Amino acid sequence: MKQLLSRRRFLAAGAAVSAAALSPVPAAGLPRSGRRAGKLALLGGQPVRTKKWSPWPIWDRSAEPDILAVLRSGVWFRGQGVRVPEFEKRYAELLGAKKCLATSSGTAALITALHVLGVEAGDEVIVSPYTFIATYNVVLMLKALPVFADTDQETFTINPQKIEERITERTRALLPVHILGLPVEMDPVMEIARKHRLLVVEDACQAWLAEYKNKKCGLIGDLGCFSFQNSKHLPAGEGGAVVGNDSLVVDRCHSFHNCGRAFGSFQPAGPNAVRGVNFRMQEFQAVILMSQMQRLENDTRQREDNARYLSSRLQQIPGIIPYKLNPGATRAIFHLYPFRYKKELFDGVPRAKFLSALEAEGIPCSSGYASQHRDGLIQEALNSESYKRLFSAERLKRYWEENVLPETDQLCSEAVWFTQNMLLGSRRDMDDIADAVQKIYENRDKLI
Ligand SMILES: *Cc1c(COP(=O)(O)O)cnc(C)c1O
Repeated sequence: MKQLLSRRRFLAAGAAVSAAALSPVPAAGLPRSGRRAGKLALLGGQPVRTKKWSPWPIWDRSAEPDILAVLRSGVWFRGQGVRVPEFEKRYAELLGAKKCLATSSGTAALITALHVLGVEAGDEVIVSPYTFIATYNVVLMLKALPVFADTDQETFTINPQKIEERITERTRALLPVHILGLPVEMDPVMEIARKHRLLVVEDACQAWLAEYKNKKCGLIGDLGCFSFQNSKHLPAGEGGAVVGNDSLVVDRCHSFHNCGRAFGSFQPAGPNAVRGVNFRMQEFQAVILMSQMQRLENDTRQREDNARYLSSRLQQIPGIIPYKLNPGATRAIFHLYPFRYKKELFDGVPRAKFLSALEAEGIPCSSGYASQHRDGLIQEALNSESYKRLFSAERLKRYWEENVLPETDQLCSEAVWFTQNMLLGSRRDMDDIADAVQKIYENRDKLI
């Protein structure tokens, strides 16, 4: 709970005014060297930055008449609507996908994809451990076992070399996550999937327009899932999508998300022949998404440019190690900007202290995900009666023995993130971030 609250606070800080913005003295007027050399804001000095960061989400008034038109039409759901299908068509075109299904959330998209590909109770799914908790939850909701393959801490993504040793006769699917917008090294993942006849669902819920070997993330595996929640790069408050190149599979997804009703090429025998849920997107969401799509490419390019520049500056500071891209990653899109903080090079100043010092300088930041693979939710599920019926005592015992992820643990103890909206600023804004980190480095002895 504490973690959730602090993440909320962090996201709120990213989207609104940072606390330091209330400081009366604008630091922008000081010479750059002075800004770095001065007393730390945490210890009563002047913060490097007092300016606001870009708000999020950003919209313009041109979308407002379309939203009103939906309201006045009374057709708010996709049943008779035309907006959701139009968005699906446009999003598929944007990615170069054959088909897209819009859903009520990214979580809904993931459940739909895994269910339709045949992940059932008692199956196992190999998952990236360093991810938003929804990735774990969807596997557990299907009463399958989320089996974690360790992270490569340099790239923040799943280490494909750790996957094969986790495969059992129950393994049904692989669920790699393009976390923070950093593409997973997909070739070896797909090779393992082919060799062992496993299905691949990409969690691309943080990876709109990201690319691996010039192919869009989400279109390399069997199905890809996206989120359009408020903080995401393509936001509609809530929303999600499943994309794929097999029409029948995506039509099956459509059927499942719409109470099991027949759809397109998927025509089951009777009106209630297959299971289904209601994960439908509303017409209002589709209108917002089509408007937001117009800014996605430009925003993405700006985040990329700023991330690259920020890395060029941060990597010059001892103890700061920016993310590294996988060899096949041709486009990373930075839902978050991550680096690793090596306290050994900061005279042992703990990460929490470093983060407080950075916040005080007017730079909102977060420690990111904790080691969730040992969190209560896995324990709760595996101790439940249903899991005890579905998996042998021996399998569950071995699960805990193998659920040891040293690189994930290390990464969780060293990561630092900035939110995507901070990358929508200027070079000057990136300099503020780097100057603040540099200032803390130079004053590290005063923090112990
Ligand atoms: C946001 C997110 C989800 C879930 O999406 P919702 O739309 O919030 O349900 C799943 N996986 C990852 C990696 C995410 O970032």
